[in-house]
Amino acid sequence: LTDIASPPTPQVRLPQGRLLLNGTLVEPLEAGATIPVIDPATGRQIATIPACSAADVDRAVAAAHRCFESREWQSMRPIDRGRLLERLALLVEEHADELAALESLDSGKLLAVTRAIDLQFTIDGLRYFAGWASKIAGQSIALNPLVPEDATYRAYTERRPVGVVAGITPWNFPIGQAIQKLAPAIAFGCTVVLKPSEETSLTTLRLGELIIEAGFPAGAVNIVTGYGQEAGAALVDHPLVRKIAFTGSTATGQRIMAAAAQTMKRVTLELGGKSPTIILADADLERAIPGAAMAIFANSGQICTAGSRLLVEAPLYDQVLEGVAQIARDLKLGSAFDAATQVGPLISKRQRDRVGGIVTAGLAEGAIAMAGGKVVDREGWFYPPTVLAGVARQMTPMREEIFGPVLCAARVDEGDDLVKLANDTPFGLGASIWTRNLDRAHLLADRIDAGTVWLNTHNVLDLAMPFGGNKLSGIGREFGYEAMNAFTEPKAICLRL
Ligand code: NAD
Repeated sequence: LTDIASPPTPQVRLPQGRLLLNGTLVEPLEAGATIPVIDPATGRQIATIPACSAADVDRAVAAAHRCFESREWQSMRPIDRGRLLERLALLVEEHADELAALESLDSGKLLAVTRAIDLQFTIDGLRYFAGWASKIAGQSIALNPLVPEDATYRAYTERRPVGVVAGITPWNFPIGQAIQKLAPAIAFGCTVVLKPSEETSLTTLRLGELIIEAGFPAGAVNIVTGYGQEAGAALVDHPLVRKIAFTGSTATGQRIMAAAAQTMKRVTLELGGKSPTIILADADLERAIPGAAMAIFANSGQICTAGSRLLVEAPLYDQVLEGVAQIARDLKLGSAFDAATQVGPLISKRQRDRVGGIVTAGLAEGAIAMAGGKVVDREGWFYPPTVLAGVARQMTPMREEIFGPVLCAARVDEGDDLVKLANDTPFGLGASIWTRNLDRAHLLADRIDAGTVWLNTHNVLDLAMPFGGNKLSGIGREFGYEAMNAFTEPKAICLRL
C-alpha cells in the first residue's frame, strides 16, 4: 500500500495492501492493478488497494472450499468455532482505537461515533455470534405414514452450513458490515470470502491481519479487494460459492440475484430504502423533532434505514418542519477527526454530485429548501444537511433513494390515507412512528410494509433483532435467530424403525 499523503492526526497506521488467501497475506496476481483510496474530507489520495481479477477470486474461493471440505473444519467442535470469533473480538477490542481512526480516514465517518458505535457493534457482533456456534439445533417431526399404516418412523432435521459464503459489502459501515457477514458464516460452520467496497477496504484489510493473529484455520476467512463488476461479479459467478450475503444498492442486488440464478446460489440481499418518519398529531415533539433530524442526518444520511421521508400530521407540520430545519442549519460540517464536527463528508465526489443533482431536480419541481440545498464551497465531498418542504409524491427527491443528508417533508391532511402514504415507495426497509398513542402506533405498524418499524425511536439496530427489507429493499433477514436460517440449510433425516 503506498502512503501518498501524510496521514492526519492522530497518526493512522495503514494496513499492508495484501489479500488474505489461505491463511496468509499475499500479493494479487496482477501487481500493477490498483484502486486509489481517497480521503473524502479532502479529496486527496492517501493510498492504493489491489484491484483483484477473477483469477485472484478463484484462488480465494478455492482456499475457502478446501477449508470447508477439510477434516479439520468439518470435525471442529462448534464451541471451538465460537472461540475463534471470541479471539478475534479480543483483538479487535485491543486495536479498536486504531481501527476507528482508519475507518474514519477512509470513510469520513466521525471518529467518536465510529469508535463508540461501529467498533463496539463489530466487537459485540463477534461475541454475539460466537455464542450461536454452540446453539445450532434442528427439530424432531411427527410423520403421518400412509404405507404401511402400522409403520413407525422417526424424522428430524439438522441445520447444515450452506458451504462457501461470499460476503459483499458497501461503504457506509465497512468494518461492521464485514463482521455481519463473517461472524454468522463462521458460527454456523461456513467458510467465507469477503469483498469490501472498493471505496472503503482499509479496515477489512486490517481485519485480515488480525484474523491471522487469531489463529483461524487457513482458508476459513479470505479477503479480496476490487471493483464490483470484476471481483464482485467473479464471486457471484463462481460455481463453488454456495451463498451470497450482500449488502448494497438495489440495482446491484438485482444484478446479483439474476446472476446467482445460473448456479442457484442462496442469497440474502440487504438493499436500499426510502423509510418514512411519521409524526402523529399527539407526538412528544421534544423527542420527535431531534429524533426525525437524527434519523436522516446521522452518518451524513448514508444509512440504508435513514428516515428520508418525513410525514407529519397537519396540526404539527409547521412546528416540526421549523424545528428540524433549525437543527439542520446548526449542524457543523467538518473532518471526522475534529471533535466539534457533527456531519462528515459523503463518501465520494460521485455521491456528492448525485445527491446535489437530486436536490436540484426537486427544487426545479417545486420543493422548497428550508435548510441546505446546495453544495458547499470547500475541499472534500461535503453536502450540507438539507430539509425540503412541500415535496409531492411524484417529485424526484421523494421517489429516489438519496443516501445523503436530505430530508423530504410532506404534510398529512385530514382524510389522507396515512398507511397508503407511508407505503407509497418501491422500498420496504424501515419506518418510525412518533406518537403518545401506543394503540394507534401498533395498529399503524401492523399495516406498514417494512422489515422494521420503530415506535418513538429510529435506526435502533440490535444483533438480537432480525434485520432486512421487503419489496425492493431485499430478501432474507440477518441477525438474531434468523441468521441461522440465512447461513444453514435444513436437512431432513427419516428413519423407519
Ligand atoms: P453498491 O451496490 O454500489 O456496492 C455494494 C458492493 O457491491 C460493493 O462491494 C461493490 O463493489 C459490489 N458490487 C458492485 N457491482 C457488483 C456486481 N455486479 N457483482 C457483485 N458485486 C458488485 O452499493 P454502495 O453504493 O456501496 O452502498 C450504498 C447502498 O447500500 C445504498 O443503496 C444503501 O441503501 C445500501 N445499504 C443497504 C443496507 C441494508 O442493510 N439494507 C445497509 C447499508 C447500505
